[in-house]
Amino acid sequence: MTDRTPDLYIAGDWVHSSDGGTRELTNPANGEVFAVVDEATPADATRAVAAARSAFDQGDWPATPVNERAALLDRIADLLERDKEALARIETEDTGKTLVESRIDIDDVVSVFRYYSRLVGIESDRLVDVGDPDVMSTVVREPIGVCVLIAPWNYPLLQMSWKVAPALAAGCTMVAKPSEVTPLSTIAFVRLIEEAGAPAGVVNLVQGSGATLGAALTETPDVDLISFTGGLATGRIVAKAAAQQVTRCAVELGGKNPHIVFADTEWESSVDQVLTGVFLHSGQVCSAGTRLIIEESIADDFVAALAARAATIRMGDGLDPASETGPLVSQDHLAKVEAYVALGISEGATLVTGGSRPTDPSLAKGSFYLPTILDRCDRTMRIVQEETFGPILTVERFTTEEEAIRLGNDTEYGLAAGVRTSDPGRGERVARALRHGTVWLNDFGYYTAAAEWGGFKKSGNGRELGPAGLAEYQELKHIWRNTAPKPAGWFKGD
Ligand code: NAD
Repeated sequence: MTDRTPDLYIAGDWVHSSDGGTRELTNPANGEVFAVVDEATPADATRAVAAARSAFDQGDWPATPVNERAALLDRIADLLERDKEALARIETEDTGKTLVESRIDIDDVVSVFRYYSRLVGIESDRLVDVGDPDVMSTVVREPIGVCVLIAPWNYPLLQMSWKVAPALAAGCTMVAKPSEVTPLSTIAFVRLIEEAGAPAGVVNLVQGSGATLGAALTETPDVDLISFTGGLATGRIVAKAAAQQVTRCAVELGGKNPHIVFADTEWESSVDQVLTGVFLHSGQVCSAGTRLIIEESIADDFVAALAARAATIRMGDGLDPASETGPLVSQDHLAKVEAYVALGISEGATLVTGGSRPTDPSLAKGSFYLPTILDRCDRTMRIVQEETFGPILTVERFTTEEEAIRLGNDTEYGLAAGVRTSDPGRGERVARALRHGTVWLNDFGYYTAAAEWGGFKKSGNGRELGPAGLAEYQELKHIWRNTAPKPAGWFKGD
């Protein structure tokens, strides 16, 4: 027996893992174990899916009036605002990101709930004119059913909220599985959802390993939609499992995002935003601008200015207000990033700055890695094509607009891209030509709950946020009503 508070939420009850298993969580800033949570088993996954199934098939939530669903979303937003500081602190301890970033994440989570609370009341059924005055035809929106929601570790609560808010708004029931690396903010979040009055079984929570628990959740036939955010390799496994059951599946995957800079760009904002675009959260951002694609004539000066700024970035514990960026999420991830830098250099890239762990002894126990710039890269290198998910900027040079576009599209991913130029016509042309789900023109990294987010190509399918982010959780049903029924007259009967 344990006196720990249980961390799994199934059918309206907080419970421990069915086999008593637990997982230790490590603070990436200092390597210390700071929390222990329940590790759910496949049997727990089965119970959680059954609870969501029963709440959908026998419960009231799917048919709850829209204004009541919207009111629940608003109550959740109110509670998130009330507990913002505590949630931000949890997120920082778990992920390593700075407290400032965590607070922004929580603000964004609140805005997603507020947005879907409004949108769900506005979206309406569609009347269809079938050309017969006796027939009234409508296309109605219904909740898609039981959803499995799987989130990554880099924006744990934010990514989960992009799924939970529209799923609740649509009238779905769900099983949420945060990353096993960073489950704490989602546990706290589900406690708030319970406090806000969500009916038992509507939101269920399990956490644990992707390979066992995640697989159990995605291989079950009782699920109507899997919404997954994570890496490309895992996305393939999840999509394959979904295909076996013919379960709807939305995957939001990685990115290798170009930031294209023309020589006529405004200098100061460009240096600053290229720097921020890649080194924020130590590069652990799916939309990080990791590929600088820069016009040859300014490349040397621009890279020198970037390197000078990169060397002054203050690294440290995310809880320390002086820190501008935190550690990588784990020692395993640090090893992966180190290997990528070594690979890039072996492929012929020139190391401009960084390329090692910091020497500051106060950072020795954390998984820190210096902001790193690799110049003289080209499209054939793996360091240019693969998602490193660390503080690594590669530099490629171009001389014509066509070449810039070609390089910007020369990736199997298609999540996000930036373009910087003072020529509005060129900016528009290049933005239109880029095959990426979000393009920032003279800006980088911003998004809003009201605009769709998602990938072209191998960055995924479907969209989160915006009206399309709600539509993912809805089925469309066509109801054809004849007010003056008569025989079809097809078979004559003679
Ligand atoms: P990951 O793919 O390792 O894990 C993501 C989630 O999937 C975790 O909850 C994990 O436990 C689970 N999982 C692992 N194996 C599974 C399996 N076999 N079946 C079911 N679930 C399984 O990703 P990560 O390392 O946590 O996150 C980083 C990745 O996420 C990066 O590639 C990043 O680009 C991507 N990401 C994308 C977006 C986006 O909006 N497109 C946003 C954030 C992160």
